[in-house]
Amino acid sequence: MDIMIKISGLTFDYPGRRALDDVSLEVAAGSVTALVGPNGAGKTTLMRCIAGLETPLAGSIEVAGMDVIEQPRAVHRSMGYLSDFFGLYQELSVARCLEYAAASQGLPDAAIPQAIRDTAHQLQLTDRLSQASGSLSRGLRQRVAIGQAIIHRPKVLLLDEPASGLDPEARSQLAALFRQLQAGGMTLLVSSHILAELDEYSTHLLALRDGRVLESRALQGVAQTDGARILRLQLAAPDARLADWLHARPGVVCRNVDSGFAEINFQGDANAQAALLAALVQAGFAVTGFAEHKENLQQSYLRSVAAHLESVESAP
Ligand code: ATP
Repeated sequence: MDIMIKISGLTFDYPGRRALDDVSLEVAAGSVTALVGPNGAGKTTLMRCIAGLETPLAGSIEVAGMDVIEQPRAVHRSMGYLSDFFGLYQELSVARCLEYAAASQGLPDAAIPQAIRDTAHQLQLTDRLSQASGSLSRGLRQRVAIGQAIIHRPKVLLLDEPASGLDPEARSQLAALFRQLQAGGMTLLVSSHILAELDEYSTHLLALRDGRVLESRALQGVAQTDGARILRLQLAAPDARLADWLHARPGVVCRNVDSGFAEINFQGDANAQAALLAALVQAGFAVTGFAEHKENLQQSYLRSVAAHLESVESAP
């Protein structure tokens, strides 16, 4: 696993308040990490430290192999950061906002017009380029701010509560954008209180509480006690053969099956899953959905909080 962010022993104090307490963690390259935790857990402080905007009391932070404290400017070239209370220059057009961000990220003048076009296209802002940013809706302003954060094609994007205040349609567009950025190779660290939303696109969970790491791990499919994975499959139209076909298939135990949908326990790795899907298609089933049932982020997070509280209570 390639590591994009590596933090060791990070401690940060505000006057009279320890916000991060000996935090050590790694963020895998190409992952989308959901940064979660209650109010005051230290999420914003952690992001600001990673972005080189705060100087910690102790510890080290590396991004893309560079030391953030030693080489903040070099690291900024590889990083985009959207703060929870971002500001835009209200009077500037969207194009000017993007141009300003591109220039301040050190893009050569000759490369800026193309970077503006590409970023506007990716964020579906092309028809808004001449509009003043202050006249846009909140959802569009959010997209301009993300555009400013990614115009220099960073390797890492840090987003602090990017979906707050957005309507469901804008949130879903944002989720699609994050998946697209990840598919393009970017590593994302996204904080939010809305776990259901993070669930849609996160590959990893990083939970903070009282300035400490509560849990840091990959989100995987739900393993059953016998090691089987839960798979869900959906057909375009009911097919009466489905239950019998699945029952006869080695490695498959049906949990819940009707003619158009099935939830099964499946013994087998990713290749075996691919072979099962191929066999279904070959047998003439019109499969429209085939996916491992992922752990629910909210349940998983609440379970780690409960385990933490139990361990605190049972400590001598
Ligand atoms: P939220 O979910 O509410 O945004 P958070 O997890 O992002 O919270 P931080 O904003 O990082 O948490 O704050 C961590 C702790 O540091 C909190 O107890 C907070 O009150 C404190 N804190 C944050 N900023 C300052 C500051 N400028 N001065 C003093 N204390 C601060």
